[in-house]
Amino acid sequence: MKAPLPFALRRLPALLVAALPLSIVHANAVSIAPPAPVAETTVVLAGHLIAEPGEPTLGAHTLVIRDGRVARLQPGLEPNIEPGARVIDLSDAHVLPGLIDVHMHLAIDSDVDPVTFASPARMALATAAYARRLLRAGITTVRDVGDNSGVTYAVRDAIDRGDLQGPRILAAGRIVSRSGGHGAKRAGPGEIDYAPAACDGSESCRRAVRENIEDGADWIKLTVSGSGREAGGQPQAAPDMFEDEVESAVAAARQAGRPVAAHAHSTAAINLALRSGARTIEHGTYFDDASVALFKKHRAYLVPTAFVADHVASKLSMFAGGRDGRGPEDLRRWTEAAKAGPGRAWRAGVPLALGTDGGPSFEPSATAREIALYAESGVPLPQALRAATVGNADALGLGAELGRLRTGYRADLIAVAGDPQRDASYLQGMRMVMKHGHIACLRDCAEPAAESSAPAPSK
Ligand SMILES: [Zn+2]
Repeated sequence: MKAPLPFALRRLPALLVAALPLSIVHANAVSIAPPAPVAETTVVLAGHLIAEPGEPTLGAHTLVIRDGRVARLQPGLEPNIEPGARVIDLSDAHVLPGLIDVHMHLAIDSDVDPVTFASPARMALATAAYARRLLRAGITTVRDVGDNSGVTYAVRDAIDRGDLQGPRILAAGRIVSRSGGHGAKRAGPGEIDYAPAACDGSESCRRAVRENIEDGADWIKLTVSGSGREAGGQPQAAPDMFEDEVESAVAAARQAGRPVAAHAHSTAAINLALRSGARTIEHGTYFDDASVALFKKHRAYLVPTAFVADHVASKLSMFAGGRDGRGPEDLRRWTEAAKAGPGRAWRAGVPLALGTDGGPSFEPSATAREIALYAESGVPLPQALRAATVGNADALGLGAELGRLRTGYRADLIAVAGDPQRDASYLQGMRMVMKHGHIACLRDCAEPAAESSAPAPSK
């Protein structure tokens, strides 16, 4: 079933959208498209319920799902609560809100074959296939923080229309940075060509942001420092952009109701982004006491991306060196600082969101792994799970819709075999995934990557 004109609705001015009954408009004016209506009522019998991760796990509950939302939620198992409804028996499982990952790159795949890498159409199909695997791994919402080819917009809209199965996607599109900055370099040979969102002086920064919004960006991604693998990402490195550039980009985004996700590793870059009003700091490896005060003052969220640091740590010799690159020992110190980030932030009281920096090169279990890495760095496991649900929903400005299971909330829920607030490994295997009342999978959620039928292996 297809929703009426979701693409058009998404593009309408916020005031007009607010007048339409199916639409949802949030405080920050980022809207999530109205998905296809669900006619039938579903009753979910949950053996245990984690209504709000971070709060104690509850006993048996019955959830009534109607029109894609939680219509009723009550203690005990009541299979006959709604005569004629479809009943999903998960009395042997733990039911909790769907996972959210706020730092992914759905259309950046370092492992694909050269033809796919150079073709927007092929890349969109690869992205769509990965989106389906993500949903079946329990990821019901993703924020994509950088796709210069723009194919994520198409996948996002196709999922919203009901043409494809996948998480709901909030997309940032082209990465905004200074010319040649991290993520804003010109396309290399064999890459999908694009015009970088160059931000060189306040006027061009406004233009880059406004062009992205015209293209369909829900968020703006700004890179204020180099990558963690480069000299520009060192603790003491100066920001990669001037103050007026960061400020004007954030102001142009704010004017259009789009929040900003700022990539920053060095202390000065983190603090410049926070002072300028970025909603989330991506990576944020070298935050200091001044950063902590700014996070709290501006109610900004940290997305430490321990997963990607862990990945780099496992392949130090492969990632070391290169132009402006760090040596293996220096790189190892960065990965250790980055992996310690979640625990350090937790102890300092910094609001925590959660994202992996993952994409099609990685298994969809990366988000569950990030939760485990939070716990390894000292975040209590229930609070790590909270960051991936409540924290992420709040960081996205969607805390009244997503991240918890309450009456009126979107019916994004997953079921696992045991209590993930005690053991994160339960998140590696889904018993059921539901997004907006639609069941994506029941019992047989595991879906490995498709086997290539090509005669010669290309990977
Ligand atoms: Zn990233």
